[in-house]
Amino acid sequence: MSELNLILLGPPGAGKGTQAERLQDDFQVPFISTGDMLRANVKGATELGREARNYMDAGELVPDDLIVAMVAERLQEDDAEDGFILDGFPRTIEQAHALDRQLSELSRRVTAVLLIDVPDSDLVRRLSGRRVCVKAGHNYHIEFDPPKHEGVCDQDGSKLIQRDDDKPEVIRNRLRVYHDQTEPLVDYYDEQGVLRKIDGTRDATDVHDHIRAVIATLRLEENV
Ligand code: AMP
Repeated sequence: MSELNLILLGPPGAGKGTQAERLQDDFQVPFISTGDMLRANVKGATELGREARNYMDAGELVPDDLIVAMVAERLQEDDAEDGFILDGFPRTIEQAHALDRQLSELSRRVTAVLLIDVPDSDLVRRLSGRRVCVKAGHNYHIEFDPPKHEGVCDQDGSKLIQRDDDKPEVIRNRLRVYHDQTEPLVDYYDEQGVLRKIDGTRDATDVHDHIRAVIATLRLEENV
């Protein structure tokens, strides 16, 4: 079997992280979230974390050069040799060019870009109710996917918190940034013939089934 290099594209709150966790189990390729990597750097007070923090708190994008270097390093690790699932990257055309360059140097290419589509009105409701565990970032939603015990992660028992950037005023900015800077990637990947659209308004299990069907079709078509 050849490699499976997937990108999950879509606005914040579309469910990319939830789907990436499931797909990582299905296909045994690493789930690489630039948001999670940056949050780990902020928590660990690294130089990158210190540089990234103010952008993140404001819902702005961290500068391309910092992100591109971080991802390039991560993709060189052994576990990404047979594929990867990228969540939250690329987020600008410049980042997409950098990824294309890196992959082509390795004679690799993007297998598919899954666009998880959800209207803005649903996203505000989803993001403002989202809670994450402090230990591993497992996701919950106070209304749609509550934990068994309020404020406690089902998976590792750690405390659930609201991300600073899931507060209403920051959410609005993140959506604006998505439309301005990330949405142009839809046309970019469509022109390359790798874009597949997924209706992200359905529940997580339906979305997961749809993605698996899309990947199965791709594998049949291209023998990947
Ligand atoms: P996320 O968890 O993907 O919503 O990312 C949280 C925040 O991290 C974003 O609002 C950005 O500030 C920053 N970030 C994550 N990925 C990127 C990226 N590819 N480019 C620039 N900034 C990013």
